[in-house]
Amino acid sequence: MDMLIGGKYISGDDLEEVKNPYNGEVIDTIPIAHLQTAQLAIDEANNAKSKLVEMSAFKVSNKLQNVVEKLKDKRQEFAELLTLEVGKPINESLVEIDRSIETLKLAAEEAKRIYGESVPLDAGLNGKGFFAFTQKLPLGVVAAITPFNYPLNLTIHKIAPAIACKNTVIVKPPTEAPLTVMKFCQLLDGEFPDGVVNTITGYGSEIGDYLVCSSDIDKISFTGSVTTGLMISQKAGMKKVTLELGGNDPLIVLNDANIDNAVKGVINGAFLNAGQVCMGVKRVIVQNGVADEFASKLVEETEKLVMGNPMDDKTNLGTLISQNAAIQVEQTVNDAIDKGAKVLTGAKRDGAFYHATVLDNVKMDMDLVSRETFGPIAPIIRVDSLDEAIEVANDTEYGLQAGVFTSDYKAAMRCVREIESGTVFVNKQSTFRTDNMPFGGFKNSGIGKEGIKYAVEEMTKTKLIGLNLR
Ligand code: NAD
Repeated sequence: MDMLIGGKYISGDDLEEVKNPYNGEVIDTIPIAHLQTAQLAIDEANNAKSKLVEMSAFKVSNKLQNVVEKLKDKRQEFAELLTLEVGKPINESLVEIDRSIETLKLAAEEAKRIYGESVPLDAGLNGKGFFAFTQKLPLGVVAAITPFNYPLNLTIHKIAPAIACKNTVIVKPPTEAPLTVMKFCQLLDGEFPDGVVNTITGYGSEIGDYLVCSSDIDKISFTGSVTTGLMISQKAGMKKVTLELGGNDPLIVLNDANIDNAVKGVINGAFLNAGQVCMGVKRVIVQNGVADEFASKLVEETEKLVMGNPMDDKTNLGTLISQNAAIQVEQTVNDAIDKGAKVLTGAKRDGAFYHATVLDNVKMDMDLVSRETFGPIAPIIRVDSLDEAIEVANDTEYGLQAGVFTSDYKAAMRCVREIESGTVFVNKQSTFRTDNMPFGGFKNSGIGKEGIKYAVEEMTKTKLIGLNLR
């Protein structure tokens, strides 16, 4: 698939194959762009700024709404392409497309609500006699750099608010799974002037880095790993940066929890998208009084999951993004087993598949839980008390989301107060997000928030206008 730059479709001399992780078949190729092409995309995005700014908010909103309708019409086609390139079960791809439609719709609505406020300068010393107000202005050009696991919805979380507040966009999709995003940008291009949305493909360390360092880009909106995020924060200079990074989310089960609901929380949180979810349940912290009952029910439910062809609508567990990714998970699990973790079920690899796995007796000094593991693993860490549960939950560089299962509201409120993460859910696993909520982590999980209204805030600048009426 070609890149879209300034309304034209552009290929390149060097091509990279995009492969289906399920059967290794080549789905398509993408250009590995050179830096001159990246500069062309930057120039085109800058040239298009005035065309977008001149459009009324009414028109921008309607055009985004038109794209909503186009994506609805192509729901199945987009879902199938997503499953082909990511290996996620078709039912999960359909959910991602539905959420993408919702995210776009929210942006079409938000495009009509971008305004400042009047400011009472007379509340400050010598401020009497002014009429003052603020305006929310676009930043200019936003570069969206995104990961492979939810490529479409996570990219729309950047493109849609950026356009809603009249920024032009350059999208650098993930090299492993770029196609759904590139195809979506073609829908947008049909509605907006040339250059409002551009796609550039290639290696993150070259093309991504070039965008990050460019002084002709006004904002980097990045979702991906902490390692890349840290590099971006060091190189971006004076431009605005939003970083949505990794997670190591805890799910706490206290002695008074509804065990069936907590088990459901782990099934939905640890195995979704084969565990390749930033807000996936990565540590299951269980109080000793219920640990045996919880573990046996979790194993029973885990063994009901159907692993297989991601295109089959009975499949619950697809492949990882590649065989290499599955091998990495295998090595991390084997290391934990060598250090004393007990396998309750799973712990096997088949090509790019990794079986849904439950491990017991996991300790925080194992790499499996001290780092972010991107695979279908539910590691049980047993604790004696609420104090210990909170201590373990916070014993990580990450702080994206968290969930606690308990029927004691005082215990729940202690978790809400003391767990250091961007979101704490009570009686719900961390793996839950609506597309309007403020989403973004504490600590090394990132900087800034997404969720359309919050993303718009981070993609605009505020100007104050003061009229001296004295
Ligand atoms: P990654 O950091 O390897 O890549 C993300 C994107 O950055 C890709 O498009 C890649 O090409 C690009 N990139 C790589 N090096 C770059 C550089 N030096 N400069 C600029 N861009 C560069 O991440 P990934 O493996 O694709 O995704 C998995 C990670 O993303 C996990 O850590 C996961 O938790 C995180 N994630 C976070 C969220 C969130 O919202 N917080 C959501 C999904 C995934």
